[in-house]
Amino acid sequence: MDTNHTLTGIARRINSRKRTFLYTKTVLLAIGMLRRQIESSLQRDDFFMGLAIEEAEKGYRLAEVPVGAVVVGADGQILSRAHNKPITSNDPTAHAEILAIRSAATGTGNYRLPETVLYVTLEPCSMCVGAMIHARLRRLVFGARDPRSGAAGSLLDLTRVSCLNHRIDVTGGVLAESCAEILRRFFRERRG
Ligand SMILES: [Zn+2]
Repeated sequence: MDTNHTLTGIARRINSRKRTFLYTKTVLLAIGMLRRQIESSLQRDDFFMGLAIEEAEKGYRLAEVPVGAVVVGADGQILSRAHNKPITSNDPTAHAEILAIRSAATGTGNYRLPETVLYVTLEPCSMCVGAMIHARLRRLVFGARDPRSGAAGSLLDLTRVSCLNHRIDVTGGVLAESCAEILRRFFRERRG
């Protein structure tokens, strides 16, 4: 009888250790997967912001305030690319984000852009965040902050206003230094 009890106790302890081992292994695997997902997401953000910077350079060559934007679909496909053009097009609303949203909506044949991500080199103004809310964009990724008119957390934050019927996930500061450098160069040259 005692021997049986002892054997049962040992079996229980072994099972308990097995469970602990499996649990630890599962947690470690999950952490590893999460880390890889975060790393690949950060790499993806850098990649698309790099394309937005290329767009900003196009604006720079046209003597427009150099801001570029890219809209990316749910599967990572590029839906549109645009740069600032208010001066050359005599259109005060022709900010990079507005042009990119219009082009993506026209291209997809949908007045809304759910599950899309908009990358822009400078924190968007209130008009552009308003357009993003109308478009039902899922996520906004911006580069440099704009303390003077940024509406995604700097001057104000329209992405998380509770009375509006849509909220946008925001990541700021992606390749911020490269994004800001083009703007600094642009304004320095105009002043000098
Ligand atoms: Zn704007």
